[in-house]
Amino acid sequence: MSDRSVDTIAAIATAPGRGAVGILRLSGPLAFVIAEKMSGALPAPRTAALRFFHDAQGERCDRGLVLCFDAPRSYTGEAVVEMQGHGGPAVLDLLLGAACAHGARIARPGEFSERAFLNGRLDLAQAEAVADLIDASSRAAVLAAHRALDGEFSLRVLTLARRLLDLRVFVEGALDFSDEDIDWLSDAQLGQGLTDAEVELSRLLAQASQGRRLRDGMVVAIAGRPNVGKSTLLNRLARAEVAIVSEIPGTTRDVLREHLVLDDLPLTMVDTAGLRDTQDPVEAEGIRRAWQAFERAELALFVAEDAAGLTEADRALLAQLPSTARQILVFNKCDLSGAASGAFVREGRDALRICAATGEGLDALRAAIRATAGLDEQMEGVFSARARHLDALHQTQRHLQAARMQLGLGTAAELAAEELRLAHDALGTITGRTTTEDLLGAVFSRFCIGK
Ligand code: GDP
Ligand code: ZN
Repeated sequence: MSDRSVDTIAAIATAPGRGAVGILRLSGPLAFVIAEKMSGALPAPRTAALRFFHDAQGERCDRGLVLCFDAPRSYTGEAVVEMQGHGGPAVLDLLLGAACAHGARIARPGEFSERAFLNGRLDLAQAEAVADLIDASSRAAVLAAHRALDGEFSLRVLTLARRLLDLRVFVEGALDFSDEDIDWLSDAQLGQGLTDAEVELSRLLAQASQGRRLRDGMVVAIAGRPNVGKSTLLNRLARAEVAIVSEIPGTTRDVLREHLVLDDLPLTMVDTAGLRDTQDPVEAEGIRRAWQAFERAELALFVAEDAAGLTEADRALLAQLPSTARQILVFNKCDLSGAASGAFVREGRDALRICAATGEGLDALRAAIRATAGLDEQMEGVFSARARHLDALHQTQRHLQAARMQLGLGTAAELAAEELRLAHDALGTITGRTTTEDLLGAVFSRFCIGK
C-alpha cells in the first residue's frame, strides 16, 4: 500500500447545495474510530443504524443513518463509513468539521477512486468509467459507462494483453536458441497470433472510438449569411430530439455555443453569427472561446438558400470555414425553390437540400452528422472510452505493425521483441498495469470531490 493511503480522508459525497439527504464519507484506517466519536457505537458492517451525529464540540447537530464497510470489502478497499444526514450545507459542514477534528483530512477530488485503484478494487479504465457514469449526458452514455465500469472494456484489453505477452514470450524465447535467420511469420503460431491480435485491436479501436464519442461528443461549426435559417435549423435539431440542453459544468452559458444531444451524441454547435468584433471584454472572451471551438470543429455545416444557390457573399464566408473539418453544404428553404430534399454533390462538395421550417431532409442531415462522428454503425456493446485510451490503442497498433515488419525482415528478431514489449506496455496504460504518477494525477484530479 502506498504512503498516501495512511491518512483517513473525508468528504461530502453528495452534490453541493440543499438536498433531502447529504452524505459524509470517510475512508482510511481511522474511519471507524472517527465515526464512533461522532455517532456512538457503530452498527455491524453493511447494516444501517439510526444515530445522533455530533459536531466538533460534541454537540448533537443531526440524526441519520450510519453505514460501515470493513476493509477490504469496500469501494476503496479501506475501512469506509458513510453518514447520511440531512442535506443542508451548514449541517454537512459541521459533520465534515467534526471528522477533521477527530483526525481525518479533506479528500482531494477523486481520491476515493484513486485509493480504489491503488488497492486493486478497480483498474484505471474502470475508475475512469466511474467519472464517466457521473458525467453521462444520455442513456447510451450511461449504459456505455456502466459497461466499462463493469469491466467489459478492461477484460477485452486484458485478453489482448495476454495475447501480446504470449507473442513476446515466443519471440524472446526463440531468440535465445537461434542465431540464424528464421522466417518468423511463416511460423503458424506467431504469424496467426499476430494477425489475431491485430484484428482484435482494430475491433477494440472501433468500439472505443464510438465510446469516446458518446462521452466527448463533437463540435459542429454552423455558418452562413444572416437569414438563411441557421437558428431555425439549430432549433429543429435540438427540439426534434427532446434535447437535453446541458452546459459544461463550470462554464457560464454563452450565446455563441449551443449544446444539444442528437440521438445520444452530445454536440456543441458553434454559430459563427456571433463571431464579430466587440468592445465588451466579457463578450470578447466568449467570442475568443467560440473561435477556438470553431477551429476545433470536426464538421462544418454551411447553410445557404437553395433558390439563390451559392452567392458571392456565400463563397466569401465559405472560405473561412475551418479547413480541417468535414464540410457539408446545406441548402435550406427547398420549399421555396421547389426542389426535393435530399443529398447531392455541388462543386465537389457534399450537399444536402433541406427545409428547416418543416423538418424535411433533416433525417439525412442527422445521419450525416452521426456518420462524421463515426456513430453510423452498430452501437451494440459500446463501452465508454477516452482520448487517452484511443491514444494507447493507436500506439499499440503502431508497435504491432513495426513488430510485424521486423519479423518479416527475418534478421531483426530483437527489434521485433522490443516492439512487442512496447505494444504490451502501451496497452497496459489503459488498465493502469503500466502507469506513472503524472497519468494518475491527470486522471483523478478531474473527478468530483467525494468520489
Ligand atoms: P439565421 O439568421 O440564419 O439564423 O436565420 P433564421 O433561422 O433566423 O431564419 C430566417 C428566416 O427564414 C425566418 O423568418 C425563418 O422563419 C425563415 N426560414 C428558416 N428556414 C426556412 C425554410 O426552410 N423555409 C422557409 N420558407 N423559411 C425558412
Ligand atoms: Zn440566427
